[in-house]
Amino acid sequence: MHFDDFKFHTAIQAGLTANKYTTPTPIQEQAIPPIREGKDVMGLAQTGTGKTAAFVLPILERLIEKRRGKVKALILAPTRELAEQIDTSIRSLGRRTELRSATVYGGVGMGPQVRKLSGNSEIVVACPGRLLDHLHQRTIDLSHLEVLVVDEADCMLDMGFLPQIRRIIDQIPRDRQTLLFSATMPDTIKDLANDILRSPVLVRIGHTMPATTVTHALYPIVSHLKTALLLELLKQADSSVLVFTRTKHRAKRLAEQLDKLGYSTACLQGNLSQNQRQNAITGFRNGQYKILVATDIAARGIDINGISHVINYDVPDTTDAYIHRIGRTGRAEKTGDAFTFITGEDTQMVRALERAINQQIERRILPDFDYKAPPAPGMPSEQSDRRTFRPQAAPQGSRPGFGARRVAFAGGRSRG
Ligand code: AMP
Repeated sequence: MHFDDFKFHTAIQAGLTANKYTTPTPIQEQAIPPIREGKDVMGLAQTGTGKTAAFVLPILERLIEKRRGKVKALILAPTRELAEQIDTSIRSLGRRTELRSATVYGGVGMGPQVRKLSGNSEIVVACPGRLLDHLHQRTIDLSHLEVLVVDEADCMLDMGFLPQIRRIIDQIPRDRQTLLFSATMPDTIKDLANDILRSPVLVRIGHTMPATTVTHALYPIVSHLKTALLLELLKQADSSVLVFTRTKHRAKRLAEQLDKLGYSTACLQGNLSQNQRQNAITGFRNGQYKILVATDIAARGIDINGISHVINYDVPDTTDAYIHRIGRTGRAEKTGDAFTFITGEDTQMVRALERAINQQIERRILPDFDYKAPPAPGMPSEQSDRRTFRPQAAPQGSRPGFGARRVAFAGGRSRG
């Protein structure tokens, strides 16, 4: 299928051409027709599948011939980064439509948002908390709303936004089109879908499996050698690398460490101001920073092409978080590697990950890496965790990939 087959308005087609979108992705192919017909849609699709354009294109089409100056489409997103990302897609795909989009999220002044909202936007991309502030202060009028999109709904619920979402829905017209996107479908999402969607069309892409363009590998390691292992892997990585840590503090500390060692590194974690976050993302996107060290929440919605590796310095807390993390690489048919450092403590999560992606993940060791080295001074480490692992011989014919060889993980747990 080709985008021409959709016969979008020429102004929208121009946006597609400018973005070099020629072939719709599966979610676009399946979701665009029912959305164009005005139906409610429940889209089960992970990030990186092209789901943003799947709802942005029909929204642009719906609004292009309408009177301007009233907010007609509202997109709810869990984080400012994702809100910015969606806004960028709208501006980029809709550049010739002259439809105007505004972002609404906390951590920045209300004033500029109020100006954009008063008669100057047709599309609003908002995080729930700040949107409610505007609704309370009557600085936004949603009475003309025709389309509501709830994006990354499972993430919003994880972040505790359900009451806010319900309060917002109470304040918008009942007669509207609603589109709900989520990577997973737990019962809470089913309940929300039942409440807010009318006879929805279900569009399911790849279930909750990560993009097939991603190669997964596990790197067994003791905690105090994680940074040394990371440095070893970085020597061989030639493009952008996104590194995930479990906590804000670990992200900050690791980024500082890498920076000191001469790697151009940015950090993305929740304690930063909006400007600092934006600088980190922009700098990483334009190549100023080769490495971005991030926490899960902060990294929601980052869309950067050309991330060759996602490295999980710490295993994620949930399988969904893993799928979201690695959704940052292998985007839109590009290939990428997802490497996860695992210690003896992570055995259960590794099993859960393998179940979630329905494959055994290859264990790798680096042949020339000193797995018995003592903690280096100044290296971030968890002193409490000194477990070791015993790599077994690599099987014949293993693919070395990224300077490593495969091992069977013995999972030794001896206290060192
Ligand atoms: P998303 O899942 O919406 O975050 O999109 C992931 C990436 O795929 C973004 O970089 C989009 O610009 C890109 N993308 C979306 N749709 C297409 C398409 N039909 N052709 C090529 N790239 C696309």
